[in-house]
Amino acid sequence: MSLTKKILIALVLGVIVGIILTFIPESLFSTIDTFVLNPVGQIFIHLIMMLVVPIVFVSIVLGTAGLGEPAKLGKIGVQTISFFLVTTAVALCISLALAFMIKPGTEGVFDVSMADYEASEAPPVMETIINIIPTNPLSAMSAGDMLQIIAFAIFIGIALAFLGEKTKGIYNLFEQANDVLMFLVNLVMKTAPYGAFALIASAIGGAGLDAIGSMGAYMGTVILGLFVHAGVTYSLAIWMLGKANPWQFYKGFFPAMSVAFSTASSSATLPLSMKAAQENLGVNKNISSFVQPLGATINMDGTAIMQATAAVFISQVYAIPLEFTDIILIIVTATLASIGTAGVPGVGLIMLAMVLTQVGLPVEGIALIIGIDRLLDMLRTAMNITGDAACAYIISENEKRRSA
Ligand code: ASP
Repeated sequence: MSLTKKILIALVLGVIVGIILTFIPESLFSTIDTFVLNPVGQIFIHLIMMLVVPIVFVSIVLGTAGLGEPAKLGKIGVQTISFFLVTTAVALCISLALAFMIKPGTEGVFDVSMADYEASEAPPVMETIINIIPTNPLSAMSAGDMLQIIAFAIFIGIALAFLGEKTKGIYNLFEQANDVLMFLVNLVMKTAPYGAFALIASAIGGAGLDAIGSMGAYMGTVILGLFVHAGVTYSLAIWMLGKANPWQFYKGFFPAMSVAFSTASSSATLPLSMKAAQENLGVNKNISSFVQPLGATINMDGTAIMQATAAVFISQVYAIPLEFTDIILIIVTATLASIGTAGVPGVGLIMLAMVLTQVGLPVEGIALIIGIDRLLDMLRTAMNITGDAACAYIISENEKRRSA
């Protein structure tokens, strides 16, 4: 049986077992979760996280060096960032339109008196920009600071491209390191069905059916936004900009989406999303190595969709009307917040505090959605990595046509 099929079966079983677990007493669930589900899920996540920093570093060095001359690198960089920004803006417009139409915050009763949430301070924008350049690349690696690792890797890649033959030895070393890492990705992926099963059963069992039921309208609005964005925006982009078949894209990329769904982490899924793009979709290795790690760090359309929907939902629950300028502010801050969101579980919700504060909405509103956020995190993460792969696929298809 193929790995994709196994993961799919694991997902379905995970959902079924998760629902069954919502019926057993809380104490029994927490025992099962602590001793079985959580360890299995966490071991799987640790196994892939172990590979992320070396893969990001090695693949971006190779991708940058492989793209060759700076003009080409610059062109692909501009195309990538433009695609990321435009699709995020479209995602935000879709989710805002849906949230205003469906009005999830007016469906049902929400107890706002109990809501309590302590927001952490967002760093100033200039500091964030300066911090992209690491003062110490090794501490960036040990801290797992993806943007700093990416910046350092791009510098090394540019140097290798310039020095060419002279540094062929180091280039070969990176290529071999890449082979070793990809071998390990294949090995680790054999455990994916077990990890996926445990993570999903734990997430559904932990949220509980009551919470899922009472938050139904909000969850439905986010999920609809995600599906519309995947079905319309990405499909149209692949078809019109990449002149390729969206169905083939989704079929080939599904294994990565299912792992993103179970781990709720773009970073953890990165090794597999690159593998799926390169092997199943034929995306040029250099383009995939450059676009996807960058996207896994800064391009999060699914997260933006959640943040915009949540902002409107909270404004409706607290009956605070949103003006046109507030809506523009949501689009701008949610774009920045999704760029600043790290590709690990739950950070999108923390960054939501920044959006709410800017628009003057109560940050405590986050307490209302925190209980079911993990389930939405799974879905939005699958969307986050799909946007990166769609971008890599479109650029690669166009490059192929150009060089043919
Ligand atoms: N979990 C998401 C990701 O890794 C980020 C978030 O929205 O929390 O892409």
